[in-house]
Amino acid sequence: MDHFVYRDRTLFCEDVPVPELADTYGTPLYVYSQATLLRHLTEIQTAFAQANPIVCYSVKTNGNLSLCRLMAEHGAGFDVTSGGELYRALRAGSKGSKIVFAGVGKSDAEMKTGLENGVFLFNVESEGELHALGEVARSLGVKAPVALRVNPDLPPKTHAKTDTSVKGVKFGLDIETIIDVAKSVVGHPGLAVVGLHMHLGSPILKADPYREGAAKAVALVKAFRAQGHDIRYLNMGGGFGIHYRKQEALPAAAFAEVILPAVKETGCQLVLEPGRFIVGNAGLLVSRVVFTKSTGGKHYVIQDAAMNDLIRPTLYDSFHRIWPVHPRAEVPERPDDYEAEIPGTFAQDVVGPVCESGDFFAKGRNLPALARGDLLATFSAGAYGMAMASNYNSRLRAAEILVTGRTHRLIRRRETFEDLVACEDDCLS
Ligand SMILES: *Cc1c(COP(=O)(O)O)cnc(C)c1O
Repeated sequence: MDHFVYRDRTLFCEDVPVPELADTYGTPLYVYSQATLLRHLTEIQTAFAQANPIVCYSVKTNGNLSLCRLMAEHGAGFDVTSGGELYRALRAGSKGSKIVFAGVGKSDAEMKTGLENGVFLFNVESEGELHALGEVARSLGVKAPVALRVNPDLPPKTHAKTDTSVKGVKFGLDIETIIDVAKSVVGHPGLAVVGLHMHLGSPILKADPYREGAAKAVALVKAFRAQGHDIRYLNMGGGFGIHYRKQEALPAAAFAEVILPAVKETGCQLVLEPGRFIVGNAGLLVSRVVFTKSTGGKHYVIQDAAMNDLIRPTLYDSFHRIWPVHPRAEVPERPDDYEAEIPGTFAQDVVGPVCESGDFFAKGRNLPALARGDLLATFSAGAYGMAMASNYNSRLRAAEILVTGRTHRLIRRRETFEDLVACEDDCLS
């Protein structure tokens, strides 16, 4: 459930009419609902409460400082994948002791910063990384707390580009050899193997993969303990799916049902790294129609948001619901099924101004006739939207707004042309 609702044929974010936001801040505009965001964080905290989980929000999903601060204020820790994300989490107010450091290619400098800030787990994904981390830790006179990341070798469960637990992907240690790797570092002076980590991929719309993954995790925790490692953390990653097309996602309780028994069996503290589940449905991308045009038998809506603002449709073939902010009387205020026939609509491609034929938000989408200046809402854009935005075509990155109740505030200003050349200007000879 989210807090984007139509009232008298106008889209609201909580109690603020979206047109008011578009007029105040311009378009394209990312709009977040604080109530939705906190609702989803609370849903996870509650569903897993039995295991006293450390819920580490995945910063890569949406690293906005104000959103991260909100998360920290409500008890979340952070999952970071780079020195930059570590910097963001700390700037947002997190303590190092609530941060897990993931990523297949951590540099020595990133490891050092992580250790100096006392991150509570490094998710380690290769033997090379394990030994490098051990060296960095020894040079600092500390032991690095490690969760070995296993690739549990499960059947495909989501888009090939975001499935991280099938054989042969770059992530994690092979399930066949991870036990030997763990054995090789028993008693290592710079490493304390205290956890097991897995992240299955994303978005996942079924609980079964977590059941299978958790079963493999239990066996590994037992094996590591038999080697002498003091395993205290079981990190089951993130990946919980959300409603992109319709009400298709599972509640957090469905994942808890299959994960909690395994956690209990190990006696470990549970760590989770949800991103999309928390922020995905809490964000909307608002755009304005620039032109419409028909060519080659197809109808195009050309809007002012583009692939540089939201790359998911072209990168992952993903589906985002798109609907006018002011739907006219001839069409439903909000369709139940965006992929079914909708009275008063015809098939249109929603595209942006970027010079790429891959610049689209939707193809052959049933939408009513639109006109220059109409506002469009692209739903469920809070995760991997702004986080992946770029300046391609020298477009300025969008502004971001946080709404709570009747109030709204800027949480990232729209970029300027000066921002665009800031790193090059001083280098002009
Ligand atoms: C991306 C990622 C996550 C977050 O995934 P969501 O689908 O956004 O929950 C968590 N853990 C790791 C290791 C990741 O790479």
